[in-house]
Amino acid sequence: MTSYLLDVARNRNIEEYEKAGGYQGLGKALFMEPGQVVEEVKKSGLRGRGGAGFPTGMKWMFMASDPKSPRYIVCNADEGEPGTFKDKALIDKNPHVLLEGMAIAGHALMAGLGYIYLRAEYPEERGILEAALKEARAKGYLGENVMGSGKKFDIHVHMGAGAYICGEETALIDSLEGKRGQPRLKPPFPVNSGLWGMPTMVNNVETLSNLPFIMREGALRYAGIGDPSCPGNKLFPVSGHVERPGVYELPMGTPLREIIYEHAGGIKNGKALKAVIPGGISAPVLAPDQIDCPMDFVSVQKAGSMLGSGAVMVFDEDTCIVRVALRTLEFFEHESCGKCTPCREGTGWLKAILERIETKQGHGGDIQLLEDVCRNIAGNTFCPLGDGAASAALGFIRHFREEFTEHIRSGCRYHREQGQAQP
Ligand code: SF4
Repeated sequence: MTSYLLDVARNRNIEEYEKAGGYQGLGKALFMEPGQVVEEVKKSGLRGRGGAGFPTGMKWMFMASDPKSPRYIVCNADEGEPGTFKDKALIDKNPHVLLEGMAIAGHALMAGLGYIYLRAEYPEERGILEAALKEARAKGYLGENVMGSGKKFDIHVHMGAGAYICGEETALIDSLEGKRGQPRLKPPFPVNSGLWGMPTMVNNVETLSNLPFIMREGALRYAGIGDPSCPGNKLFPVSGHVERPGVYELPMGTPLREIIYEHAGGIKNGKALKAVIPGGISAPVLAPDQIDCPMDFVSVQKAGSMLGSGAVMVFDEDTCIVRVALRTLEFFEHESCGKCTPCREGTGWLKAILERIETKQGHGGDIQLLEDVCRNIAGNTFCPLGDGAASAALGFIRHFREEFTEHIRSGCRYHREQGQAQP
């Protein structure tokens, strides 16, 4: 397997990156017309790695056809989805692949300026990016005359606001403009009216980092990696009850079983698998008999969940699923921005009901009530955060209904077995 994201060079300085073929993709792109670069990305089949999996080339075409300027490239590095730490690993190991990707996007979409909106909790990565930017400017890969092409492109790092909702692209743009980060009504979409009302491309760190390989090796080679419907390598951050948690770069479509049992070393202390979340906390949980699912956007959706960020969260047989559901809803309730009623009120309701179930104060109709509240949230919110909260809660109930019933009837078995007081 070819690694072109994490294991490109022995260390992150620019000379090592150049030796490994770094900035050749940008050089090739600069010899092409912007529209040809957009076509190449479209041909590659690259799909966004931030969660939605939208075809990147198509998103680029919407912006390419808008003549307004100035134009902006925004890198979404506000990695806030619980269980997700892949963008951090990528910046830590290989910051230049992101800068090169942004410069390619800048040329393709005729933008002169880029911003990296970096998660507030990543101060160390800010230093890494600033050092890499300095190196790239000194070598002429960024600045007034990129690689002697006469084109201008530079990048600024902007620290995030410490809010999960700022990972949503329009909330991110508001935050970048200095406003309170809350989602905007769409349309207009950022590709036509983004930063300061101008055409803006918001792409995830991992998405942009795929571009140097596509430009250097060609769209056809890229399209041949992984699953044909979702090509390329994917970063899978694996956490929870596994022997070797970490970030694994693997072809898209690698089976979930292989990720857990081969790459992450299997379940910790030889225990049995109870449940796995395949794509960050917003993705509905999967049962152990579903782990032969290939990890790509299409297959995970067919299995009843979503690939999301690709963050694999593993739970062993001793995990209380009601407690996991409660922690999940505590997160969503805390991070709800409050703009729309179904999410603002609904996440609070879900948390309160789960809290009483977990503390042996549940009522007979609480499971149905949870489902009812979820149905009132799903599809009725202003942005996907509300949908994520509802589908995560429904996923836990779908696969572990018996455990919820048992909690209502006789409290938490796991606390009894572990000799802990009921919370
Ligand atoms: Fe805010 Fe939640 Fe509504 Fe999104 S769904 S706009 S996070 S209140």
